Amino acid sequence: MFKKILIANRGEIACRVARTARSLGVRTVAVYSDADANAQHVRACDEAVHIGGNAAKDSYLQWQRILAAAKATGAQAIHPGYGFLSENEDFARACADQGLVFIGPPADAIAAMGSKAAAKTLMEQAGVPLVPGYHGRDNDPALLAREADRIGYPVLIKASAGGGGRGMRKVDRAEDFAASLASCQREAKASFGDDHVLVERYVTRPRHIEIQVFGDAQGNCVYLFERDCSVQRRHQKVLEEAPAPGMSAVRRAEMGAAAVAAAKAVGYVGAGTVEFIAEPTADGDIRFYFMEMNTRLQVEHPVTEAITGHDLVAWQLLVASGQPLPAKQDELKIHGHAVEARICAENPDAGFLPATGSLHVLRWPAHVAFIRNADGERFHDPAPVRVDTGVVEGDAISPHYDSMIAKLIVWGEDRAQALARLDAALQGTHIVGLATNVAFLRRVAASASFSGADLDTALIERERANVLEQPGLPLPLAAAGVVAQAIAAEVALEGQDPWSKRNGWRIHGTARRRFDLEVGKTPHVATLERLHDGATRLTVDGEAQGVLATRALGGDRYDVSLGGARHTLSVYLHGERAAVFADAGTLELQEYDPIAHAGAGAGAAGRLTAPMPGKVIAFMAKAGDTVKAGQPLAVMEAMKMEHTLSAPRDGVVAELLFAVGDQVAEGSELLKLAEV
Ligand code: ADP
Ligand code: ADP
Ligand code: MG
Repeated sequence: MFKKILIANRGEIACRVARTARSLGVRTVAVYSDADANAQHVRACDEAVHIGGNAAKDSYLQWQRILAAAKATGAQAIHPGYGFLSENEDFARACADQGLVFIGPPADAIAAMGSKAAAKTLMEQAGVPLVPGYHGRDNDPALLAREADRIGYPVLIKASAGGGGRGMRKVDRAEDFAASLASCQREAKASFGDDHVLVERYVTRPRHIEIQVFGDAQGNCVYLFERDCSVQRRHQKVLEEAPAPGMSAVRRAEMGAAAVAAAKAVGYVGAGTVEFIAEPTADGDIRFYFMEMNTRLQVEHPVTEAITGHDLVAWQLLVASGQPLPAKQDELKIHGHAVEARICAENPDAGFLPATGSLHVLRWPAHVAFIRNADGERFHDPAPVRVDTGVVEGDAISPHYDSMIAKLIVWGEDRAQALARLDAALQGTHIVGLATNVAFLRRVAASASFSGADLDTALIERERANVLEQPGLPLPLAAAGVVAQAIAAEVALEGQDPWSKRNGWRIHGTARRRFDLEVGKTPHVATLERLHDGATRLTVDGEAQGVLATRALGGDRYDVSLGGARHTLSVYLHGERAAVFADAGTLELQEYDPIAHAGAGAGAAGRLTAPMPGKVIAFMAKAGDTVKAGQPLAVMEAMKMEHTLSAPRDGVVAELLFAVGDQVAEGSELLKLAEV
């Protein structure tokens, strides 16, 4: 085994590789860009080397610098993670030239699978079933159009060098072929520097089923069963699970054998994934065709780990250090069911626009470490809930890298149990500060199609009306959460429940209290009233909600009873915003100050807010200072640049809302500016 390895990646995968390395006593070296100087992956490793600027091309793709870092630190091998250099054959060769082990397949295997078209020709020779199509080198448009006619519409045009769901066009009619081809080739040229395409039959109601394979230098090759990654958006995976629902033992063995044949055809060593597209047949079975082979560890490998009990990164390290595979095919078994959800910084209700900003709140569901089988033996250790992430609360999601915040992986004895755990785990995932897809994932997982295992790549489109633009937590309950938090804050401040002392309410006398709230741009009023018997009643926008009782549970959690129903709510304050999480959903509210809003033109426009996520470097004014419009008030740092923020209007600084050094989210109010 190696003594020291360098991890040529960032984020969750670098942290994940470091974890296994540590468990094996292997020392680790991180590499990092400017933006990642304090990133978790740097902390997860024993040493770290700075390799350049924020853009991937200036750092994580700078392979000469990475090789130099490995040499300088005495690393013996390089783990490339996924993305970046993981499928770069030149890098794999350069490692060997420098006497370093590339923890991945031989460069020739990467090269053979690097072109989708060339790989298909190879697979055809190896007897692996292919989607009917054309994958020759001749890309004359007239020839491709004739091939499309021969294949029959609809067809799919794919960039031969494509990946990550890009460079693909579905064409329904012959009249559209020429235009789609031209646009696909333009995208292919721009994204991959190669405009070669292949054309294949578009499989209707396709499922994406992939097989994890593993080879060693001794010539052994096994498959670790399948993953179903049919739940996709724009050809990108959203939920992945193992095993694939409805897979028969016969078909599994057949697909496994085909995947092993594919790997053997290219002399494969290490972890790889053979992706198949599967279509349902009339008799309820599935037919499958080779799509491509990914010559690296896959994002969704944890679901395979959960059902097999094997650590695939440990296998990678073993195999790369020359040892044989730790298990034979007949020793591998499927135990239970696992699902992975990719938690991303994006707004599903705004066309999945990627979001950047600060992770003001980042709370994960409780983890349970081990599961034992019925005999009390530790069959393997699938944590029922596993979170793979490279960020912690307070970190920022920057625009430089991908939008994945974390992977949430759940395991259950069967699919139903795994889905129940997934729902609970997503409900317990609280992220505040930027838009995420957590609520969307929860709805997709709970949809009739997914829970009923009616899987194909159009699932999200089909469930659109049920998974997008859905209401969050009902307003009365969210308002009750805000009230619970406010009461708890006063108790903490004054040492007394404000209801139990006569002068407790400062706003509207002793028996009523008004909360002005805003959801989006809509104002709402919640009123709390004390009844004669001492109970309190909540009214929201004039509608009585019944008796309210609240109790702080600690850790931002509140026990709230409203109108006889009891709920546990988590309430996080974030500037003037409050995010309320409950089993029924999430709602973000803004405390609304009717007085400030009444001032002419002094709405949001008159506030000093952070124009981007970043860090407060300095305040140039303090509470009580009178300031003039345009006067510099604060300096923020984001993406290594300093930005000076000036007073939006004349006013008096009432309060600084952050301290120097604080990380703030985009849109946070930095200081309260009162009227002169
Ligand atoms: P996979 O097919 O491995 O499950 P995706 O389809 O999400 O993963 O990834 C598509 C491509 O995007 C991958 O081939 C990988 O090269 C790249 N990629 C994904 N995530 C990252 C990341 N965190 N950093 C760099 N590249 C990534
Ligand atoms: P990438 O390199 O981007 O991962 P793939 O060739 O693996 O590209 O295809 C990605 C996705 O595109 C598949 O998971 C599937 O949803 C869809 N797809 C690919 N080939 C076909 C096809 N022939 N018919 C229908 N859908 C397809
Ligand atoms: Mg693919």
